Amino acid sequence: MKIICIGRNYSEHAKEMNAAVPTQPMFFLKPDTALNRENKFYIPSFSNNVHYELEIVVKISKVGKSIDPKFAHKYYNEFTLGIDFTARDLQAKCKEKGHPWEIAKGFDNSAFLASETFNKEDYDLNNLNFELLKNNESVQKGSSSDMIFKIDELIAYVSKFITLKQGDLLFTGTPSGVGQIVQGDQLIGKLEDKKAFELAVL
Ligand code: ZN
Repeated sequence: MKIICIGRNYSEHAKEMNAAVPTQPMFFLKPDTALNRENKFYIPSFSNNVHYELEIVVKISKVGKSIDPKFAHKYYNEFTLGIDFTARDLQAKCKEKGHPWEIAKGFDNSAFLASETFNKEDYDLNNLNFELLKNNESVQKGSSSDMIFKIDELIAYVSKFITLKQGDLLFTGTPSGVGQIVQGDQLIGKLEDKKAFELAVL
């Protein structure tokens, strides 16, 4: 199983990171050891600035290579919400040196996944509203309608380079409002008006 994460898929987030709005999707991988399905997150000792990034996560349902965008919808049935935890201080250093991002993005438990899953047939995936509350205050509010590249385009693009397999997870990018977490924070993810997860920061 692999975890594929899309970067800069919402223009407001690209702006807040002082990054250019991409003209084609960009992605990176997290190892399977990054997967975190527990409702808690321990801040790692090697970072002083871990950020949350709330994202819609698509679960790949069958193997596919060089998938045509118009058939991409056949490669997933379910989605959920997740958090791409990012050691922003390490990432800044990687960016500065032109190094890969793995130490900032791929560390253990950095890919949180809500246990709740949602059936794609029940939702309009191109107009999905989601929100992150930190200590009961809204910090990120997104809609998949603002994605620069839609889910089916992302699947087509990634599968040109990397074969997708059943069980792979696609983190589809974060809207603006990313920020730091500290010990004791509580994060709640909402999909439309439903609570999808509650997570304690330890
Ligand atoms: Zn992300």
